[in-house]
This record gives sequence, structure tokens and C-alpha cells, in this order.
Amino acid sequence: MNVDAYWRGGLAPLPVSKLPKEQDFQSNNVDTIIDTMREAHILTANHNVVQELESLYSWRKKDPRSSSSRLTRCESDRFQAALYRVWFLCALYGRPAPANRVGKAKSNRQEIQRDVNREQAKFLQSFTPSQITPLLEVWKFMVDLATWAVRAEIFPPKNCSYLKAYLVWCGPGTTLQAFRGNLTSVDRKVVHSLRPPYEHFCEVFNMAESLKQPGDGVLILPHECFLSKLKCQQCARAPLEGLWSESNWSYLRGVVPPSEFLNFVELPWWNSYTDAELLGDICRSTPYSQLIGEVFLLRSKAYRTWKPGCWLCTTCLQTFMRDNIEAFCRSREYPEQ
Ligand SMILES: [Zn+2]
Repeated sequence: MNVDAYWRGGLAPLPVSKLPKEQDFQSNNVDTIIDTMREAHILTANHNVVQELESLYSWRKKDPRSSSSRLTRCESDRFQAALYRVWFLCALYGRPAPANRVGKAKSNRQEIQRDVNREQAKFLQSFTPSQITPLLEVWKFMVDLATWAVRAEIFPPKNCSYLKAYLVWCGPGTTLQAFRGNLTSVDRKVVHSLRPPYEHFCEVFNMAESLKQPGDGVLILPHECFLSKLKCQQCARAPLEGLWSESNWSYLRGVVPPSEFLNFVELPWWNSYTDAELLGDICRSTPYSQLIGEVFLLRSKAYRTWKPGCWLCTTCLQTFMRDNIEAFCRSREYPEQ
């Protein structure tokens, strides 16, 4: 094999055989791991990322009424263990480890890629079913956040799938940064080379789906959580893509991105509105929670029973926005005069 060659290419700080293993992190061994203040700072920073992602996970998957984690102690342990494993596999197979930096010849690269793919599959097979179930859930959650960040147009829409792979493969710290809209630069040299190993890993993960065990996921009783009992208060459906209330309007931005926002409203009064560019700018620059909140304040009489605290499916919320955004736009037509 050639995973050794792959690592020798100056791509990783350590050969695989010297990377720390899980047992090294048991409490009685921690002293041997944390040698320097720099390492202690890295571990603290990573811990903060994990805690923030746990809160986000809880808000998205368990209880969208609270922006801090509502996971139980056991759920929190499962989430954190799975997220550190996802982080580890990103360090192992994601950036900075694109196989095509190793050899110059294409055939050599393909051979190395095949070897790496085999190693990826072996890596996943090394987990027990009770470990793999939360790992898959948390991996999907990270992919979901990266998709959200790309759709929310933090980046130009060109090369979306490459950017998604890049965000996931750079690890949870980068994915979270992109989700917050704080990612200031992308390493353009590696963006394109990260997609093939990422896609292969997704295939390996899909195969591992069959290993998932009910009851082993992050949430102990997923059918009991607040979110699973909710229905749209207008059409009474419980849609898969989510329900929206003032506590999670901000998340809608990556589900219905600003570029699509103007398409779905299909404004009949469009021609009377003189500055379409201005409207586009308002939708892009106003945080979604504020934008939708203002549309609710200015809603027409026909919608007065629709309260900001109501849970609405995406379709009902889009209908609401289509029928009420005109008043919001008119209130912005002559700004600050
Ligand atoms: Zn509905």
C-alpha cells in the first residue's frame, strides 16, 4: 500500500501509526497527551466548538425553542463522542490529505486513491454498531450544516458541491465558522481535490446505514422529543423539511436562500415597485429573523390570526410571505426619509 506514501507526502503532521488513539485520551493518560500550552489551547478551542455544535444539534433536532442544548447527559455524551470521531476522520481523510498531492502521475494518484478508499471503509468497520449509529447521525448533521452554509450564499453559488465537500472535510471547526458566516477565506488550492475522497466517504457511509441500530442514536427517545410531536398550525401536516416559528426563522435562510426568496414571492405588484435591486439587497442584508418578524408585524387582516409564535411548514410560510411581503417592501421603499 501506499497510505504510507500518502502520509509521507508532507500532508499530515504524523504518520497514521503515531496518531493518538482513543485510549490515550482516558483520564489517567491525559498528562502524556497534553505536553504544551499550545496543545491545551487547541483542546479548549475544540471543546468550545463541540459545545456550540451540541447546542445547534439540540435546537435543530430536539427542541427549537431553546438555543442552548437540551440534550440529556447521556445524549450529550453520545453526541460529543460521535462529533470527536467525525473530527478525527476529517483529520485523517479530509484536509490536509488530498491524495493527488502525493504523486505527479495520474495513474499513481488513482492507485493511491483506491488504497485510501479501502482504508476509509476499514476505518468505519472498526466501530461497533452502537458507535456507528450516532457517528452517522452527526456526520449527516455536519453535511447538513455545510449545505446550509453554501445555500445561504455565504459563498458565490458557483462550485457549490465542491465548497460543501471542502467545508465538511476541513472539520467541524470550519463547518461551524461557515455556518456562522465567519469564514473569511477558502484554500482554493485544495477545494477541487477534496471532493472525490469526500464523495467516496459518503458512499461508504451510505453502505454503513444498514448497520444503524434503533435506540443507539444520539437522542434516546427521538419520537418523544418536542420537535417530533409538532404539526403545522395551518395545514396540520408534519413535514420532513422542518417547521418554522420565531425561534428558528433564522435557520430558514439556508433552506430558502435569499436568491430563491424573490422567485417564490412572484410579486404581482412588481412593476409598481421601482427598485427591484433595492428589494434584493434588503432580503440579502436583513437577517431572516428580522425580515420575517417585520413581515408579521405588517401582515394583512386576512392573516391576523397567524401569530409569530405559530409553527408553520415551509409551504404555509412561503404563502404567508408571498401575500404579505408587499407591505414590508413598501415600508422600505423610501428608507430613512
Ligand atoms: Zn402548513
